Amino acid sequence: MAIVNLVTGGAGFIGSHLCERLLERGEQVLCLDNFFTGRKANIEHLLPNPHFELIRHDVIEPILLEVDRIFNLACPASPVHYQYNPVKTVKTNVMGALNMLGLAKRVRARILQASTSEIYGDPKIHPQPESYWGNVNTIGIRSCYDEGKRVTETLFFDYHRQNNVDIRVVRIFNTYGPKMLVNDGRVVSNFIVQALRGEPITIYGDGSQTRSFCYVSDLVEGIIRMMDTDGFTGPVNLGNPGEFTIRELADEVLALTGSKSEIDFRPLPSDDPTRRQPDIRLARERLDWEPKIPLREGLPRTIEYFAKLVKEEG
Ligand code: NAD
Ligand code: UDP
Repeated sequence: MAIVNLVTGGAGFIGSHLCERLLERGEQVLCLDNFFTGRKANIEHLLPNPHFELIRHDVIEPILLEVDRIFNLACPASPVHYQYNPVKTVKTNVMGALNMLGLAKRVRARILQASTSEIYGDPKIHPQPESYWGNVNTIGIRSCYDEGKRVTETLFFDYHRQNNVDIRVVRIFNTYGPKMLVNDGRVVSNFIVQALRGEPITIYGDGSQTRSFCYVSDLVEGIIRMMDTDGFTGPVNLGNPGEFTIRELADEVLALTGSKSEIDFRPLPSDDPTRRQPDIRLARERLDWEPKIPLREGLPRTIEYFAKLVKEEG
């Protein structure tokens, strides 16, 4: 019998790539989404596949399903979207995790949580290893997401200790690629769309803050390896250690698109982390995983995807 997977947030950016990969492995996929930031277009091509099923549902409500594995990705990931309704973001994280962990306990499913580098906050240790506890503001505009994700990790480990639930926790660092929304609001998609439209490139702050960008296929490979690995709960960092300033990213996008867009410096939002880079020694050791696609290769593929969408806009 093929493995039955539940992917919450399956119509989103990462979730839709994950659904594709699981189907390619010959497994069954129940894709659950409330379409807050997900789109039917991301998974439309999967609908005719008899191994694929789409469920419109909000993870803050309980649901009963017979599944072997749960990938819990439901949660808006872009600051613009998770700050739109911060109370809902906390609910999605906490109640979503409680509902999915309850389901995993009931049907004895293995469950993976899509956690985040944001649990390290504005890190005082660089690069960030899993052993670092983080530097997080509890009351700022990013807290709904950061603290939501932190308490979700706590819930995962408490369900593991208290109820023996078979958990996996991955901490995802900035990931990009095709299927991101044009209005996603995160830096890679913003810069590419702005460059393609000839609009100003909006750099928040002076652009000296850093991020490390992972191409989506590399990330999905890491997620799947983690789910397949026995006897290892994590948390484990998944990300590309290549670190760039936001200014460097803007210059790279301008060079690759040949755009004449100007740079527009805007105020830096509060609590914006100054630097971020994953220490991936644990993932190398336990999952034999490391990213294969550098920014130089991933950006052109992403530009190609957005170029089609921008062209369709006319
Ligand atoms: P995304 O916004 O594209 O996808 C999130 C999906 O979850 C969307 O399809 C959305 O409609 C769905 N969703 C949101 N709230 C829901 C709810 N209450 N019930 C059901 N579905 C809901 O974001 P993404 O980049 O694909 O991120 C996926 C997961 O990975 C998220 O949990 C995010 O926190 C995590 N993550 C992503 C990154 C990244 O760089 N992309 C980094 C760290 C962590
Ligand atoms: N950023 C920027 N211009 C934009 C969008 C984002 O300069 O149009 C900056 C943002 O301030 C942050 C970095 O790029 O320092 C990454 O932002 P993103 O929203 O992609 O992710 P996160 O801050 O959650 O890592």
